[in-house]
Amino acid sequence: MTTELKPYEVYAIRYAENPRLAGQNFIGGDPHNGPMPHDYFVWVIVGNGRTWLVDTGFDADMAVRRERPRLRCPSEGLALLGISVADIKDVIITHMHYDHAGNEELFAGATFHLQDAEMSFATSRHMCHSIMSHAYECEDVVAMVRRLYRGKLQFHECTEELAPGLSVHHIGGHTQGLQAVRVWTRRGWVVLASDAAHFYANMVESRPFPIVHNVANMMEGFRTLRRLASSPEHIIPGHDPLVMKKYPAPRADLEGIVVRLDVEPRPSFA
Ligand SMILES: [Zn+2]
Repeated sequence: MTTELKPYEVYAIRYAENPRLAGQNFIGGDPHNGPMPHDYFVWVIVGNGRTWLVDTGFDADMAVRRERPRLRCPSEGLALLGISVADIKDVIITHMHYDHAGNEELFAGATFHLQDAEMSFATSRHMCHSIMSHAYECEDVVAMVRRLYRGKLQFHECTEELAPGLSVHHIGGHTQGLQAVRVWTRRGWVVLASDAAHFYANMVESRPFPIVHNVANMMEGFRTLRRLASSPEHIIPGHDPLVMKKYPAPRADLEGIVVRLDVEPRPSFA
């Protein structure tokens, strides 16, 4: 059936960065513990007459408060692709951590797509423990509840198709309700893992990231990502700077800002 599907274009927009050490990115640390920075992304899926934003990033105040250097507002990245925030009618929220679910007011008119399990986790007794709550922002969670009562939130459970060739898949692990996004492209099924795999290394080396709700589900999630994608090369991790190196910019002036994920990796990575 997939041959009848029209392929989507998929972009990663890099909006912030954070210098970190490798030891902070793996349970049990890292014996070498050299620099292993995080990139922060939102992703855009364009095709079949619709534009889908995946995650909304964080705003300038949050960048200062959490000491994460912000490079640009995600809306500026969208504008570079000729997309205005008003064009965004649907937003898939992979999970509600501060770096994925901020900038609420920018996308107030859009319908957000979220797993039931993520809303229930973010408002559950588990948030009594700072180790579980520290990556959430109360204001983002409250905004999501307000959105629900405005009729702008659509819940999904486990696997659901949002449009032909575009589906969400509950993974859990990192947070209880984390979902990945599977999208049909001209190179096959691409899977936006978001934080189901922060780095390629978490997945390839089976070394899980230390911010985690359930380690067993995180490990199982790596298998699910492989099952959903056309190949391991079709899985896009959530914070790995290698993504910017591996995939080509859609235009020369977007180098270092936006890469295109629906096309083959640059020749040096093929
Ligand atoms: Zn994240």
